Amino acid sequence: MSNGKTTAKIRLFVEHPLAQGQSVPLDRDQAHYLFGVMRLASGDGVLLFNGRDGEFLANVEDAGKRGGSLICAERTRPLQPPPDLWLLFAPIKKARTDFIVEKAAEMGAARICPVQTDFTNSERIRRDRLQAHAVEAAEQCGGTFVPDVTDLTRLSAMLDQWPSDRRLMFCDEERAGEGLGLRDAAPGPWAILIGPEGGFSAGERTRLAAMPQAVPVSLGPRILRADTAAVAAITVWQQALGDWR
Ligand code: SAH
Repeated sequence: MSNGKTTAKIRLFVEHPLAQGQSVPLDRDQAHYLFGVMRLASGDGVLLFNGRDGEFLANVEDAGKRGGSLICAERTRPLQPPPDLWLLFAPIKKARTDFIVEKAAEMGAARICPVQTDFTNSERIRRDRLQAHAVEAAEQCGGTFVPDVTDLTRLSAMLDQWPSDRRLMFCDEERAGEGLGLRDAAPGPWAILIGPEGGFSAGERTRLAAMPQAVPVSLGPRILRADTAAVAAITVWQQALGDWR
């Protein structure tokens, strides 16, 4: 085996455990991508991560048409998990939902939860497709962690089981124009809640107002679209309480 390319640029997410000397089997799609599309040959280097073990330089051991394997050399980065932040959002049109998942994965959410609210108009999501977007975002942005995308759940059901120690940054369009509202907040387990195009219902507002974990915030004087609001909310949270401090 040759030493491979020393400047491995390709980053690939795999499910397999990673450790120095570990051989990692490739499925058909991965083999097609590495050997068919990217034209890697035996000995060439790739960066691998699995969301748990950090990032490893790996060299092509066996390049086949329908499969193959890589062998891990040294670990190039430790696992860098994001802060304990969940993003709850009401799914909107497909391209905008994809955008929210991609941006949340890039910006450092630990878990992404599509929620069905009273005024959510999109009833179905493809969880596996959204999860694949989160994987792609992590591959592209140098992340070593991939947030879980959960199944679409009713917001009311989530609030019924809400953990007592997890605060909820309730992005409330009715507070547009007030101050942000995070001044007294402390780091720890948090979630951000973004509503759908129609905003939150009166029932949801009453429910959230009664939750001691809920912290209502304003995202400025203008009403933002839900996808913009998600990016803005993660930004202000990361800056105030997360790993951008
Ligand atoms: N139809 C609603 C707007 C919904 S905007 C209306 O006209 O009032 C979609 C979501 O983005 C909102 O539910 C809220 O979670 C968030 N959002 C948008 N602008 C906001 C702001 N200025 N402050 C707080 N949250 C905001």
